[in-house]
Amino acid sequence: MSASVTECTNLLGLPRPALEAYVAQLGSKPFRARQLMNWIYKRGAGSFADMTDLAKELRARLTAAAEVRAPQIVSVQRSADGTRKWLLKADAAQAFEMVFIPEPDRGTLCISSQVGCALDCSFCATAQQGFNRNLSTAEIVGQVWLAARELEREEQQRLGAGAPTAPAAPGDERHVTNVVLMGMGEPLANFRNVVPALDILLDDFGFDLSRRRVTLSTSGLVPQIYRLAEETNVALAVSLHAPDDALRNELVPINRKHPIAQLLQACWHYLDEGNGRSVTFEYVMLDGVNDSPAQARALARLLKGHPAKVNLIPFNTFPGTRYRCSSVSAIQRFRDELLQRGLLATIRRTRGDDIDAACGQLAGRVIDRTTVRLGNKLIGVAVQP
Ligand code: SAH
Repeated sequence: MSASVTECTNLLGLPRPALEAYVAQLGSKPFRARQLMNWIYKRGAGSFADMTDLAKELRARLTAAAEVRAPQIVSVQRSADGTRKWLLKADAAQAFEMVFIPEPDRGTLCISSQVGCALDCSFCATAQQGFNRNLSTAEIVGQVWLAARELEREEQQRLGAGAPTAPAAPGDERHVTNVVLMGMGEPLANFRNVVPALDILLDDFGFDLSRRRVTLSTSGLVPQIYRLAEETNVALAVSLHAPDDALRNELVPINRKHPIAQLLQACWHYLDEGNGRSVTFEYVMLDGVNDSPAQARALARLLKGHPAKVNLIPFNTFPGTRYRCSSVSAIQRFRDELLQRGLLATIRRTRGDDIDAACGQLAGRVIDRTTVRLGNKLIGVAVQP
């Protein structure tokens, strides 16, 4: 055997307590961890040489033993509406996507938690690709770090005298103010890596985002929602998509394991533990499948009296799908039925569909490793402890 290669520690994946332990191990005081976080997350530094208020010796040790490594960019696409989609490299054969959606009052980054997805929702492009692996904490946090840097770089380029690109539209938000875990993957199936990533997003010395501006979206892994309630307090969104179990079993197969009544109980528990004021229920609008007024009324009965918001998502199409999006009038009628029954309901504006960056269109490059399927029934989902 050749001499062993010592691996660099990627600081991007380390929440504050772990980073404190790490700098202590290098012989420095714990407060150095806060300084480091400040450089990495607030100032976007990727090189220890730039961190001028750290002792020279510590900088040298870090340079030898550690790194700040985000996923590599394979390509970037820009939509006519300003939405950007980046294809990022997970490893030689795998890639995943993240999307930035600028709005006048905020900039939302939609990040991935897995390469592919094992949950097999029937209307989702990611599901068609199957599942390859969980993203690491560094790869999850690294998306936010990378997007912030790229947006800053674009801004500098625009301001630079050299080659000005298109001028910013008035109020066009250029920076990441909100993060949603609504990209590829099921975040609660990657609990062990996602929770520390959330810690870093919320940490005052990390990205310092308010808990209301970080949203985790789940297809409904009930036991993990209970665990999440104990470990974090970000906003929760749940992909409901149907008002009854028979239909939800078909659209979101994990419902066979965790039916609607149990899922809703877990949601109310999440709020009871002081984690926000309401749960957002996502509902994709599928023509002739889940979009009738009677189904809207059934949905209202299910949620009425609870702290719930409904977000209606026009279905985004992709090659090979058997679904079509509901008509504009059906979507509006559905919303009105909900509003009339006292529920808060909004229609999500589709962004970035010209570059396949809209909800459910993220595909990346996934080599499927899921072999535990039996017909169309999902019999095993790799859910990590
Ligand atoms: N696995 C998580 C997060 C990823 S999907 C979840 O299921 O919530 C983010 C949202 O996009 C989910 O509500 C998902 O159901 C929705 N979605 C998936 N495919 C879609 C499509 N083709 N059109 C519109 N929304 C879709």
